[in-house]
Amino acid sequence: MKRKNKHLPEIEQEPIEALSFEEIQLIRAAREKTEDRSQLPPRDQSEKAKLGRFARKNKLVVASAIVILLAMLVGIGFGIAGMISFATSRPNTSDITVEIGEEKPFTVPYDEMVRDGVLYVDLRAIAPFADLIVSGSTEYMQFASRSGTFLRFENDSEFARINGKLVEMIVKEFRGNEELPAKAILTKDKCYVPYRFLKECVMDGLQLRWNDEENILSFRRTYTDILDEEKQPIAATLLFDVGSFTVLPEPGEKTYEYSYLIDIEPYLESIQTENLLLANKQTPLGEDFVPALEEITVATANKRILYLDAHAARALEAMMLEMAEVGVTDVMVTSAYRSYKRQYELFHVTYYQQEKAKHPTWTDEQIYAEVLTYSAAPGTSEHQTGLCIDFLTSTMNELNNSFEGTPAFEWLSHNAHRFGFVLRYDKDKVDITGYSYESWHYRFVGLEAATEIYEKGICLEEYLAAQN
Ligand SMILES: [Zn+2]
Repeated sequence: MKRKNKHLPEIEQEPIEALSFEEIQLIRAAREKTEDRSQLPPRDQSEKAKLGRFARKNKLVVASAIVILLAMLVGIGFGIAGMISFATSRPNTSDITVEIGEEKPFTVPYDEMVRDGVLYVDLRAIAPFADLIVSGSTEYMQFASRSGTFLRFENDSEFARINGKLVEMIVKEFRGNEELPAKAILTKDKCYVPYRFLKECVMDGLQLRWNDEENILSFRRTYTDILDEEKQPIAATLLFDVGSFTVLPEPGEKTYEYSYLIDIEPYLESIQTENLLLANKQTPLGEDFVPALEEITVATANKRILYLDAHAARALEAMMLEMAEVGVTDVMVTSAYRSYKRQYELFHVTYYQQEKAKHPTWTDEQIYAEVLTYSAAPGTSEHQTGLCIDFLTSTMNELNNSFEGTPAFEWLSHNAHRFGFVLRYDKDKVDITGYSYESWHYRFVGLEAATEIYEKGICLEEYLAAQN
């Protein structure tokens, strides 16, 4: 039975015609190449002649033998060369010489400094020379430079911190190009860190060199153009930076994914930009503090031109667009950034005179005590930060807690944090904030902080205290 190929069309085969007996004989004769030697002179029976005949008759065999022989010779040649080169390129595993500046070099056993294919350096040994402040113990160790930058390592951990930012110590292997995760190894008096990690995150102040042929590891300070009293150049302060390492999210860090009714994309970056600047009675802003400001685009009372920090302004715009989307339209901003000078005028002139008129017999002390119950002394107003706003509705003649009864307040109570804002002066936080309840005053802190403050029911002061 003919096997059919399912996929290919069937091809009719040509029938093979049988050969005649004579034709077969002819083909055989040609194949055997039998020599009729009857008409030739007798053969030369010498060894050389025999070999010649053999060679002529068996050209293929001889050629093959020559090729094999040559190949063997070449192979042996390569083998020897390989062995020689292997012997000369075998990595130098003798003790490693460590040179720290002009100090007397010392040696460390190779196996102590090269572990799992990674070259390590004892940062603890370099710290005094590099002018690093060491703190910590066998659990973790921190090396701070006078530039304010620092490295922090945990024992047996592949993770380190560069200026507080979490990174994984993935380094190219020692004497190779493969990327390997490497751990910090801490003992009582040593802190071994991957050489290539250190080299990567030291931006200035220290030069690290590895001499592969002689197994010498050297550390040199780099110098500034500034000369000291003895006309010697001053060493550059060590500067650490994350460089090419990827900053990892903090463990347990929440990422908030809210859904919005408006197109949030153009606003999200601003909403997520944290700003925890504190201004209160204990922490006043200086007279000269002026944030970078932007005119706000949302509805303002009496169409006044008001200013906010750029991110706060963008976040506010998004928040009010979303409010409009759900039908909360009776809301406007009545105050935003207020300068030190403006606060000074309000406090020392406007409010002072109002109280003086009401209570002509009061002393200045009594008057200011009264003014302080509703106004902030210059420098202590959060409005100077450019991060907060006061809301007003058409039902209000002035700022008061009747705002609590408006749809705007109802919506803000449950949604402001999604836009990075918090109710700043809550009822039960008066003792901490130093301000009485202000249902109309909202402060921008950024999405993450706002969510935590909202979820935990804490105020900014408490949030900041928990951060430290
Ligand atoms: Zn306010």
